[in-house]
Amino acid sequence: MDSKLRFDGKVAIVTGAGGGLGKAYALLFGSRGAKVVVNDLGGSKKGEGSSSKLADQVVEEIRSAGGTAVANYDSVEDGDKIVKTALDNFGRVDIVVNNAGILRDRSFARISDTDWDLIQRVHLRGSFMVTRAAFPIMKEQKFGRIIMTASTSGIYGNFGQANYAKLGLLGLSNTVAIEGRKYNIHCNTIAPVGGTRLTEGILPPDLFDQLKPEYVAPLVAWLCHEDCEDTGGLFEAAGGWYGKYRWERTQGHFCRKYIEEEVTPEAVRDSWEKITDFTDAYHPQGLQDLKPWKEIQAKPASATG
Ligand code: NAD
Repeated sequence: MDSKLRFDGKVAIVTGAGGGLGKAYALLFGSRGAKVVVNDLGGSKKGEGSSSKLADQVVEEIRSAGGTAVANYDSVEDGDKIVKTALDNFGRVDIVVNNAGILRDRSFARISDTDWDLIQRVHLRGSFMVTRAAFPIMKEQKFGRIIMTASTSGIYGNFGQANYAKLGLLGLSNTVAIEGRKYNIHCNTIAPVGGTRLTEGILPPDLFDQLKPEYVAPLVAWLCHEDCEDTGGLFEAAGGWYGKYRWERTQGHFCRKYIEEEVTPEAVRDSWEKITDFTDAYHPQGLQDLKPWKEIQAKPASATG
């Protein structure tokens, strides 16, 4: 397993690639032979303004290292324009890394409509718009690799980040992964931690220096490689450490035995220990693993109560 992972002939779109994590992804793809669309709107970290400077600088860096790249300055909300840049310049799209992001932290009760809408438009809607534009092309090619970007703030919650709601991206990814599977389109979600302008002043300075975006990029590259078979996964990456999440579910408890039997709130209360008991918990893989419906029977005529 010492052969180098290459992306020759592949076209990668990285959104928000003008700085931070996206820049590290774009540089890595560029150094491994991919043709890269460096997308960045170039606004502030709160999502205000725009500039072509950030994307241009990264394109320049890739080119001066011998790679191939082109800039795109559209917002991810105009996903079709970003995909068009890839098609016009390189004729295909193999990889989409949905990375563009902003922050508008507020405690929950203080979140304004704009704080909510802008975040959702960039993160969830933006990832949808770019991915929807690329998906038919990937389907036609019978190849595609898509990354959605979530956050530990979505997994665990984080004070002031209710509007960020980044686990919505996992919900999107789960179904894209199911629908993409038969076309060799994989979709995975990452929860990265990196020292960037978004985390400056939040992460302690010594940790900030340790958590270089370059430590997240290798996971993104592997997940986007044709040899990687994982799809529908959720992965965490920080400082060179990588891990994978999965669901865990209690065995649960049926509060009724028969079809059409009534269930009361008291029955739920009285079974609470069983419902929440993680002894013999298991890891459901999909809808097929969820409900032991076969345990429910028609009530026999002889049954009482
Ligand atoms: P960053 O601010 O350094 O980079 C984000 C880039 O996205 C910026 O260059 C910005 O101009 C661009 N961008 C913003 N809105 C855009 C839009 N509408 N269209 C196109 N580009 C746009 O931030 P980062 O820390 O590198 O974050 C990258 C992603 O990782 C984000 O989705 C963020 O939510 C997520 N994330 C980061 C961390 C972390 O520790 N840094 C943790 C969890 C999740």
